[in-house]
Amino acid sequence: MNDLTISIVIPAYNEAENIKPIHRALQKEFAKLSCSYEAVFIDDGSKDQTLKTLQSLAAQCPEVKYISFTRNFGKESAIFAGLEHAIGDAVIIMDADMQHPPAIIPQLLKGYHEGYQQVIARRNRNGEAKSHSFLSSLYYKTINNVINVELKDGEGDFRLLGRKAIEAVLELSEGNRFSKGLFSWIGFDQKTVYYENIQRENGTSKWSLRQLLNYGIEGIVSFNQKPLRICLYAGLISLFLALAYILFMLFQIIRYGVDVPGYFTLISSVLFLGGAQLLSLGVIGEYVGRIYMETKKRPHYLVQESNTDCDRE
Ligand code: UDP
Ligand code: MG
Repeated sequence: MNDLTISIVIPAYNEAENIKPIHRALQKEFAKLSCSYEAVFIDDGSKDQTLKTLQSLAAQCPEVKYISFTRNFGKESAIFAGLEHAIGDAVIIMDADMQHPPAIIPQLLKGYHEGYQQVIARRNRNGEAKSHSFLSSLYYKTINNVINVELKDGEGDFRLLGRKAIEAVLELSEGNRFSKGLFSWIGFDQKTVYYENIQRENGTSKWSLRQLLNYGIEGIVSFNQKPLRICLYAGLISLFLALAYILFMLFQIIRYGVDVPGYFTLISSVLFLGGAQLLSLGVIGEYVGRIYMETKKRPHYLVQESNTDCDRE
């Protein structure tokens, strides 16, 4: 056994029936490997037996650590807490639902031994609903045109981070966390390994359509100010068009006199400009809201119970 310790960070929200299977799978995988490991489970305010299962598992297995939040703070905060508490030389972030196959771990470690600070597990979209894959690929195409870090379809949080990369992610202390973007933003040498998409074994996905939509918006707004710039351009263009139209009308009036009809043009321009203004205000509001949240400097999460050293949060 060499001196290397790997921390596996596992956010878990209502995953009671998945805790034991994933723990067994990790045990099996690490029995074949020559390094020690710890499994850091983050109970993200689960309402089922997740915490109880973790407590009993931790009582039996010393490599099991758990941090239990006071309420549901979201997966991003759970990952942050896991990274803060992980003591390993490298961390592997994976879901509790076995959709991130532990069998990939040796390949991730191989990348780490080759010197990569980020080894990313990328999945294909086999077995997924066509509409879902289509919407995702459309989203990635759009978002990559808008934001200034690159996001790739199929790359999620399932990845290995070396110590330097972990410290870099922890230094980004913003409250509105969009991990995919943060991982891309920190850079470092990266290697990608591929795996087959797997459907969830137990329980259901924790993402509703609304959450996915909000996550998508988060991705766009948290990484740059381009949407504000788009509003500015849209405003300038409509102002220019309006001016041109006013001049045109003036010219018509001078030439042919006042013309009463014009309801259509009037109402359509009022509606269009009203819509454009509301949209711009909404975008500005998104940014102002974020500034407001960030100025509060609230902690990312609150711990109710843990069997790790909790000084760091
Ligand atoms: N998760 C979490 N907090 C949440 C929602 C999800 O910690 O508020 C965890 C969840 O338990 C799982 C992982 O994040 O381990 C991924 O969630 P899920 O499988 O629901 O997402 P999907 O695979 O459908 O993207
Ligand atoms: Mg899942």
